[in-house]
Amino acid sequence: MTGPTTTELVAAVPGLAPYLRPATLLHPYAATPDPRASRIGGPALWPAGAPWPRCTAEHLADEYRDVSAADRAIWEAIARAERERARSNGGVHVVTPDEAAEQRRIMDGADSIDLIAWHTHRKVAERPAADTALVPLAHVRAEDAPHLPWPEDADRLQVLWCPNDHRELPNTRYYYGPNVELHWQRAADLAPVTPPAPRRSEDGYLPTPCALRPEQILDLPDQDELPEELHEAAEEFAQRYGLEYHRALSCAEGWKLGGWPSWHSTDLVPVDCGCGARMVHLLTVDSGLAPDVSVGRFGELRVFVCPTDLAHPVGLDLQ
Ligand SMILES: [Zn+2]
Ligand SMILES: [Zn+2]
Repeated sequence: MTGPTTTELVAAVPGLAPYLRPATLLHPYAATPDPRASRIGGPALWPAGAPWPRCTAEHLADEYRDVSAADRAIWEAIARAERERARSNGGVHVVTPDEAAEQRRIMDGADSIDLIAWHTHRKVAERPAADTALVPLAHVRAEDAPHLPWPEDADRLQVLWCPNDHRELPNTRYYYGPNVELHWQRAADLAPVTPPAPRRSEDGYLPTPCALRPEQILDLPDQDELPEELHEAAEEFAQRYGLEYHRALSCAEGWKLGGWPSWHSTDLVPVDCGCGARMVHLLTVDSGLAPDVSVGRFGELRVFVCPTDLAHPVGLDLQ
């Protein structure tokens, strides 16, 4: 049995009508993409003569530091003392203040210690000496997502990202992930290019090129973005079909342009631009499947744009 559509829901609960937003589900699949078609990943096109974009933000790189033989012996002695005390102490593990101070000294601010390889791990901020080239994430033809806020005379949207981890990008909160750029361009200006390879990259941020089967839908918001009584009416309607409003009739899943973001792992986190405007969902990047991207512990990365000025930095959020 196929469930009801958002249009049927809105017919039953007309108060939802102002919340309907057009969206394009991308449905990526493994295939060599046609350079003239919408796609995920390469092949790359760029205006002739214009430099390929590079990331100038600070990167968070993994740093491993070896634990010295002397410190390793201290760490092991503390672990032994702790186990012995636990034996005569009903299994309760405790370290003395002196031992805790030694462990802190050995950790020296690291996030974790590997007791097999004997190194500590931390993320360190790294401003690239040579900037890192961005990689193509998505290429969108206007006819496949006509509902996007296309600037006059632009008919291609290119989404590029820097395949490294970043913190404290503009218009983000609690964010930790790739740095995303949008380029609204004209097909007539674009020519095939071979972009420089990124200087470094994280696993999971280099998409496998995919072709798309774009599907136009009408999307409804997460319950957090609805007045209580509308959400209740929507939930009642969904339950008649044995469904839940969330996902079955709202916040459509997968790679998506336009529509509404889901707030399933945090409650609603409003994404506001530095200029004060509430930003609008533009793209959801999903993890896994054919593009084989992994964002935010196998989650979703959502890209938001400023409704006042598309040139303002994008908003980013991970769920
Ligand atoms: Zn970067
Ligand atoms: Zn703005």
